[in-house]
Amino acid sequence: MSTTSFTHEFNTESFKGKVSFPTGVFIDGKFSAGGDNTTIDVINPTNGKVITSIAEGTAADVDRAVQVAKRTYEKSWGLNVPGAERGRLLNRLADLMEKHFDELAALEALDNGKTFNWAKAADLTMSVATIRYYAGWADKIHGQVIETSEDKLAYTRHEPFGVVGQIIPWNFPLMMMSWKLGPALATGNTIVLKPSEFTPLTALRMCTIINEAGFPPGTVNVIVGYGNTVGQAISEHMGIDKVAFTGSTLVGRKVMEAAAKSNLKNVTLELGGKSPNIVMNDADLETAVNWSSHGIFWNHGQACCAGSRIFVQSGIYDKFLKAFTEKTLSLKLGDPFAEDSYQGPQVSKIQYDRIMDFIDSGKKQGAKVHVGGERFGHEGYWIQPTIFTNTTPDMRIVQEEIFGPVGVVIKFEDEEDVLRQANDTLYGLAAAVFTKDITRGIQFAHKLQAGTAWINCVNQLHPNVPFGGYKQSGVGRELGEYALNNYTNVKAVHVNLGHTI
Ligand code: NAD
Repeated sequence: MSTTSFTHEFNTESFKGKVSFPTGVFIDGKFSAGGDNTTIDVINPTNGKVITSIAEGTAADVDRAVQVAKRTYEKSWGLNVPGAERGRLLNRLADLMEKHFDELAALEALDNGKTFNWAKAADLTMSVATIRYYAGWADKIHGQVIETSEDKLAYTRHEPFGVVGQIIPWNFPLMMMSWKLGPALATGNTIVLKPSEFTPLTALRMCTIINEAGFPPGTVNVIVGYGNTVGQAISEHMGIDKVAFTGSTLVGRKVMEAAAKSNLKNVTLELGGKSPNIVMNDADLETAVNWSSHGIFWNHGQACCAGSRIFVQSGIYDKFLKAFTEKTLSLKLGDPFAEDSYQGPQVSKIQYDRIMDFIDSGKKQGAKVHVGGERFGHEGYWIQPTIFTNTTPDMRIVQEEIFGPVGVVIKFEDEEDVLRQANDTLYGLAAAVFTKDITRGIQFAHKLQAGTAWINCVNQLHPNVPFGGYKQSGVGRELGEYALNNYTNVKAVHVNLGHTI
């Protein structure tokens, strides 16, 4: 039996009020039970208890959604709707997200375990800004007139794919949804989107908001379900010409394989990272410590671009480690809805176990737990902010993405040495360098193999600026003007103005 609505009474220090909205498989603007009439339990990570059960989507639901999205694309969206109207609807969506700002942030905190304050400051703020940014692009999607010869006119059109598939993770559920919806809708595509089965609440709340904004039913279809059923069905569906995926490198590879084996659909991938955070001798100590802490511990380390490998030059190493240790010990773990909490629980039991396994591997392989390294509290999925020192390059905690509040601090001697180590990873999502010498910072940033390089800051994202990975951190770019290319096909049109053969 499927749950058809979710109701929750928030009575927290920072947010009070009743939130109620319909849930289910969302196709053609309507909610229904999933194809097998089964449900998925949504768990509160602070205590491991069930918050609610929601309809589980199936491959048959994906198929139904694709038919609806195709019909909608042909009849009431896509090239039938002027860009200005698509932009108006996106702006209306952003207005409604602002109207429900606190409610959406509260749902995100409840479902994911992130703090309510950070959900507002980062997730909601960025999500609204992203939708608005792409609203502005909707009537500015155009090709080029290309000079060839006097007797010929050639031009390009940037046309939508039609139905696009989108698969997103649980670490920034609404933000990842916004990064996907914004450019796809601005360019005129219809969507079949799968949220993470761990954090479906904001995506389901957004369905009603999307209806209220006035998008034609069937423009956005949302199917919560498991990766090996719904995710796989999207990746291999013959009626989907483009799939955009955010998640782990492991699963990204499966999505690409499924796309290759089915209809060779266009694929963009935003994948994992093991980002280096490099502190030079001449860095401002306080700046480097505060940002490095934010780099690895923000969102409980569950950020794809987390600065999880902290390289510190020998001249500043002792001072940095002392101040970084004090900063780490000052981070307050607690109720995500308490005003002074910085860190909540990890998202799920699976992630908790995975991270604790990494911590164990670090201990077993001979690294030193400098701070933390244990669970926090007695229930739920909390882990102490953890710093390892005395690592070697081959250790799992140095090589693999942990996706938790676990950083390694590594001493280095010179730039050549740290550049080699920083780039010695299969990932290439982001990197940061701290130095007071801006010329040195810029020159060094250019040598890093990463899609994003930060100088004297970390984890800075902006809707206008592209984000994505080198190497096995991804294919393509999200955000900025670049993301529009993910959702358009280029058609070249040749017009004969008198040319004879
Ligand atoms: P995940 O790869 O396990 O899952 C991501 C999504 O894929 C989920 O919706 C999941 O249900 C689905 N999925 C699982 N198996 C599938 C399959 N066989 N076919 C199709 N879909 C499938 O990742 P996660 O644990 O949800 O998120 C954490 C990962 O996401 C980390 O590796 C992180 O670095 C990455 N991430 C990257 C970015 C970025 O922009 N580069 C942003 C956020 C998260």
